[in-house]
Amino acid sequence: MSLKSEEINRAMAVERTLGIIKPDAVEGQRIGAVVSAIEGSGLRIAALKMVQLTRAQSEGFYYVHRDRPFFGSLVAFMSRGPIVVMVIEGDDAIARYRTLMGATDPAKASEGTLRKRFAKNIEENAVHGSDGPDTARFEIGYFFAGSELPQD
Ligand code: GDP
Repeated sequence: MSLKSEEINRAMAVERTLGIIKPDAVEGQRIGAVVSAIEGSGLRIAALKMVQLTRAQSEGFYYVHRDRPFFGSLVAFMSRGPIVVMVIEGDDAIARYRTLMGATDPAKASEGTLRKRFAKNIEENAVHGSDGPDTARFEIGYFFAGSELPQD
């Protein structure tokens, strides 16, 4: 990358975040609608694939929630079927994608958000998005090798 585009990236705070289309939304055939909403918001999909987590991989991904009462149920849900994992990129991508997702509980999510449109309940809530830069780095690395990502 040239110095000039590096400077532009810094000025615009280009970020990457990890998005997941969860098993409930894959089962409900919402992959296209979610991808379309992401692209329609001006964010870019930098990498994307479908995987199915083992129970152990699901536990590893949600390790920070290990002491929450819903941990076992969340881990079982996230490993019950295929998911789509995506690296989403753009200016301020972490916050913008979380706004697009809406509140964790769809009953509290704003009109037009992905969770308002597609979530079943507070657990089966259709999509995931990293909640900060450190989490995004960990979560992207959990699913994608460096060779699967476009060069910075
Ligand atoms: P997020 O950042 O909006 O995904 O929310 P959290 O990090 O707080 O929770 C992670 C995931 O755990 C959520 O997306 C839900 O799938 C699930 N979850 C969160 N809160 C609850 C809850 O109170 N009950 C249950 N059953 N699941 C929850």
